[in-house]
Amino acid sequence: MAEIVIENLRKEFGDFTAVQSSSFRIEDGEFFMLLGPSGCGKTTTLRMIAGLELPTSGEIYIDGEEVANRPASQRDIAFVFQMFALYPHMNVRKNISYPLISQGMKRAQVKARVAEVARILGIEDILDRPVGGLSGGDRQRVALGRAIVREPKAFMMDEPLGALDAEFRERMAEELRALHDRMGATTVYVTHDQLEAMQMGDKIVVMNHGVIEQFGVPQDIYDKPASMFVADFIGSPPMNFLKFPGVLARGDRAVRMHDVELGVPLAEEGFRGDLVFGVRPEHVRFDDAAAYRGRVLATEYLGTTQIVTVDTEGGQLKVRAPSDQRVTVGDQVGLAFDRRTITLFEAASGRALC
Ligand code: ATP
Repeated sequence: MAEIVIENLRKEFGDFTAVQSSSFRIEDGEFFMLLGPSGCGKTTTLRMIAGLELPTSGEIYIDGEEVANRPASQRDIAFVFQMFALYPHMNVRKNISYPLISQGMKRAQVKARVAEVARILGIEDILDRPVGGLSGGDRQRVALGRAIVREPKAFMMDEPLGALDAEFRERMAEELRALHDRMGATTVYVTHDQLEAMQMGDKIVVMNHGVIEQFGVPQDIYDKPASMFVADFIGSPPMNFLKFPGVLARGDRAVRMHDVELGVPLAEEGFRGDLVFGVRPEHVRFDDAAAYRGRVLATEYLGTTQIVTVDTEGGQLKVRAPSDQRVTVGDQVGLAFDRRTITLFEAASGRALC
C-alpha cells in the first residue's frame, strides 16, 4: 500500500520537454489513470514514478519518502508492461514463482503464495501448463500473477490491455478493476483510451503535450472539463463547441445565447474576448419552441439512441436523442439547452470560464 505524491516533476530529453512541472497526489489504494493522446508524456511520468527514468527536476514521495533519485529496486513497485513479458520456456507456476525465488524466499512459502495468487486470478487449473500454448487472456492473467505475487507497494501499468481485441479488452478491464478492489493496492495505469479511463479509474489525470490539463474524479472530468481539450478528448461523440460572436466585458453578470442565459462567475468579471459554448450531445433537446435553430444534416442509429448532426449558426452540433424520435435529414429543428449543463470557454486559451 502506498500514497504517491508528485511535486513539480519535469523531464527533458535534450531540448525537448516531455513532462512539464507536474504535480498531483495519488491516495493509498487508488486506481489512478494517466490519460492522454500519444506522446503527451504519460509513459515518461509512469517511468519516473517507477524509477525507470530519472526526472530532470521535481520530487516523488512514496509514503512520505522522497525517492526521485533512488533506483527502481529500492521503490518496491511492480511495473506491468503490455503483460506479455513472460518466460516462454517455463510453465505458469514457474513464471509466477520467479520473482519470489529470485528474492530467496523458501520453497514452502513460494508454493503457498503462488497458490494464493492462482486462486485470486482463477488460474489454478493451468499452473502446470507451458505459457507458450495459452490464450491471450490467460497469458495476461499469468503476467498479472507475476506482478502481484511479491505484494509490492504499488503497481505501474502501461497500456496493459493494449494488445487485446475489443471484446477481451473489456473483460480484462473488468477483471483488473475487480482484482484491484480485492487487493486494494495503489495502481497507476497509463491509457490513451478515455472510455477505459472513465470506467476503471478512481481519479484521472488528463495530459496534453507534457502538461496536466485536468486532475479529478471521472464524473468531474466529464461534467466540468477544465479546457476545450479535455471536453473534446472525453466523451463519444465529444462535447459540441458553438462559437459565440459576443464578448463578455467587465461588469457583465450574464451572457446570452438566444434564450439561454448563463451566469458569469465573479472571478471572471474582467474577462473580455470571444466565447465558446460547450454542450454535450445528450444535453441538447429538440424543442419546436426553442429560439436556437438549425437544419438536420445526418442521423446515425445506435440502437436505443441516435446521433443527429445539426447545422446551426454557431457551428455543427451533435444531439443524442432517443431513437424513436422522428428526425429526418433536411428538417428545421429548434434546440433547447439546460443552462446548468453548458460549459463556457474562453476561445483564445480554450480554458473553461464556468
Ligand atoms: P505513447 O502512448 O505514444 O507512448 P506517451 O504519452 O506515453 O505516448 P511518452 O512515451 O511519455 O508519451 O513520450 C512523451 C514524448 O517524449 C514523446 O514525444 C516521445 O517521443 C518523447 N520521448 C520519450 N522517451 C524519450 C527518449 N528516451 N528520448 C527522447 N525522447 C523521448
